[in-house]
Amino acid sequence: MERAKIFWIMTGLQHFNNAIITKKKIINSDLCLINFEVENWHKHVPGQYSEICLTAENGYQAIRPYSIASSPDEKSVTFLIERINNGEVSNFLYDISTEGDNFQVSNPIGKRFILQNKKIPIFVASGSGIAPFISMSKYLANKNKRFYMYHWSKNFSGLVIYEENKSYINSLYFPNITRNKPPNWTGGDSRINSKTFNNLDLNNQYEFYVCGSDFFVENALDIISNLGKKFDIYTERFGSF
Ligand SMILES: Cc1cc2nc3c(=O)[nH]c(=O)nc-3n(C[C@H](O)[C@H](O)[C@H](O)COP(=O)(O)OP(=O)(O)OC[C@H]3O[C@@H](n4cnc5c(N)ncnc54)[C@H](O)[C@@H]3O)c2cc1C
Repeated sequence: MERAKIFWIMTGLQHFNNAIITKKKIINSDLCLINFEVENWHKHVPGQYSEICLTAENGYQAIRPYSIASSPDEKSVTFLIERINNGEVSNFLYDISTEGDNFQVSNPIGKRFILQNKKIPIFVASGSGIAPFISMSKYLANKNKRFYMYHWSKNFSGLVIYEENKSYINSLYFPNITRNKPPNWTGGDSRINSKTFNNLDLNNQYEFYVCGSDFFVENALDIISNLGKKFDIYTERFGSF
């Protein structure tokens, strides 16, 4: 009873809005992009997340946070969902949800992992950890601002915005495929390691943004802090996978 009360107070604080799926794109067997039209949407800052709330017919609700993958200039709000084995919400969103379905989406949340854009941004992502950087990179590309993007994926489709990143003239893009490389792949194929950032001029001022699994974020933090200079580092962890 007490638990239910706390839950309702929390959802009340999050300002959930009615949202309808306007488009769903399956990327591969793990990932999909879902666009929502959200009532009374508050423009977000790139890097923020929202909570998606599923409500069953019997009133049962499940709520999970997802990074906002659209840029603040876009009309619809996009999320990149990774289907987690036996995951309650991600499985529903990936397998069952369809265009026209109604959900509740919270107003944008978070002040910690947002684009500062005071120094040169460097995005470091693994897997679906690319989600907040889709938003940040679109935003910066529109403003002709320079940024670096390092992304590790198991396969080519998991790079999600490969073509866009190649087309951004102000982006220095370093995609890595660790398992199923397409023929003639010219990008990287090793995991993040102590040589990954050898191409950076360490005399520049950088702000690092790292996003992915706990394991990936820890690993990246170790490597960045051993570069021998003090950088601003912002991290977002999606969970232990
Ligand atoms: C700030 C923030 C932003 C996030 N943004 C995104 C995003 O943009 N895209 C996205 O796909 N996910 C994102 N996540 C993760 C997301 O919130 C859920 O944790 C994830 O979708 C799993 O929820 P589920 O209901 O499917 O699994 P659950 O039913 O909660 O869990 C099922 C099983 O999977 C394990 N598990 C839980 N979370 C994960 C995980 N992330 N990876 C692997 N195993 C897990 C659990 O321990 C459990 O054993 C974000 C998390 C945070 C904290």
